[in-house]
Amino acid sequence: NKRSKIRSILEKKPIGDQVTLMGWVRTKRSNKNITFIALNDGSIIQNYQIVADPNVIDEKTLRRITTGASIKVTGKVVASQGAGQDSELVAESLEVLGEADPEKYPLQPKKHSLEFLREIAHLRMRTNTFGAVFRVRHALSFAIHQYFHEKGFYYIHTPIITASDAEGAGETFKVTTLDPKNPPLTPEGEIDYKEDFFERETNLTVSGQLEGELAAMALSEVYTFGPTFRAENSNTTRHLAEFWMIEPEMAFYDAEDNQDLAEDFLKYIIKYALENSPKDLAFLDKRASDENAKKPANERSEMGLLERLKFIIDNEFERITYTEAIEILKKSKPNKKKKFKYLIEEWGADLQSEHERFLVEKHFKKPVIITDYPKDIKAFYMKQNEDDKTVAAMDILFPGIGEIVGGSQREDNMEKLTCRMGQLDISEEELFWYLDTRRFGSVPHSGFGLGFERMVQFVTGMGNIRDVIAFPRTPGSAEF
Ligand code: ATP
Ligand code: MG
Ligand code: MG
Ligand code: MG
Repeated sequence: NKRSKIRSILEKKPIGDQVTLMGWVRTKRSNKNITFIALNDGSIIQNYQIVADPNVIDEKTLRRITTGASIKVTGKVVASQGAGQDSELVAESLEVLGEADPEKYPLQPKKHSLEFLREIAHLRMRTNTFGAVFRVRHALSFAIHQYFHEKGFYYIHTPIITASDAEGAGETFKVTTLDPKNPPLTPEGEIDYKEDFFERETNLTVSGQLEGELAAMALSEVYTFGPTFRAENSNTTRHLAEFWMIEPEMAFYDAEDNQDLAEDFLKYIIKYALENSPKDLAFLDKRASDENAKKPANERSEMGLLERLKFIIDNEFERITYTEAIEILKKSKPNKKKKFKYLIEEWGADLQSEHERFLVEKHFKKPVIITDYPKDIKAFYMKQNEDDKTVAAMDILFPGIGEIVGGSQREDNMEKLTCRMGQLDISEEELFWYLDTRRFGSVPHSGFGLGFERMVQFVTGMGNIRDVIAFPRTPGSAEF
């Protein structure tokens, strides 16, 4: 491939060299004597300036160049007189690869709203904002693998199609080869899965955790990084029906080891993004500050995006128990006019995102790890504490996001685990494979799940989770 990327031209500054660039035209400015083209190829946020002399490049070709068209251009890199760029390309030959009819191409050079861009999600990656978001998303994925690899964790792949609902929340998408309108029935009138592909009821995974635990019981320290699916009401700015989750699972880790690992991990990947995506983050920082200025005064965040990212890396997370969190919430005065309205809670209730954001953004003003939740609001697999009321759970709450991580030490005592399963009506027979890890060589172990899109939201400052995944799945949206 003889094509050079704009990113490498900007980094290497090969003045005098002949290079070939290919990309999409962002803008074109022409006068009688000269045409300037701003070219973007997605390798970096900056456009690269192409200078075309109508005596060298014929006018017919120049006329076909419009915003959105793709071109191949070969020429010489020369020092640039203009501000903002060290060099530019003087075109020697230029070919239009694909035209973009200016009457029809929706991404004209102006600022489009995110709502509009969501309607053309199939083209929005060609904008600066989405280009930046997806390059940062890449940097974060890479950092995640690098972190665990450096720590000696093994990357495992847990099944997408499964028969278990790890969270027990009943939010699964069914997977079946039966005709949904006319399924075969048993004499009792229930769906007869004997004719189904798997000969049993299956669904898309909501979490790879249970299978991850099996791997940890053999390889000690493992992690998954895969898609998960939840048929929940995802009409919020924090929920998708299809999202990616990072789930480390570690044998011989207690609850505190788990918290230490999670905090270190989150800081590491944020630091990696800051160091490796400075241009994209500078652009997103400016964007976030423009957005922030538009908000009503009481909803504005005090810190800028980059400032907040650096703050997270440099400060220890607060660690409190659920019981302490409830005490703080009870003491804080509800105020109908302010952002946080519903602060009075009783012990035992799950924290709503208002509560989480109050603790993080108002009370502690830093990330908070909340531990030891009531067992009745958490899943069956969490380790039961001595008090018989709470479990060794941890949720990590981030400013602007709320819950970003959910985890726990796992119940390693067979008797306690099966007793809890009995109370929740979870079949021991169906989960025999899970229980075998307790039956044979059970060890203390812990793990957590990081919602990847929530992390990308936090690092990019994007307010809506639909804008950090290329093809968002929410109720009513699955057009590609
Ligand atoms: P929430 O309380 O926000 O609904 P959860 O407690 O149901 O989250 P967990 O089962 O603990 O979620 O999943 C682990 C992590 O996965 C969460 O901390 C969050 O970061 C992320 N997550 C959960 N549900 C979604 C979703 N529908 N879309 C995107 N991320 C999600
Ligand atoms: Mg949920
Ligand atoms: Mg939750
Ligand atoms: Mg959770």
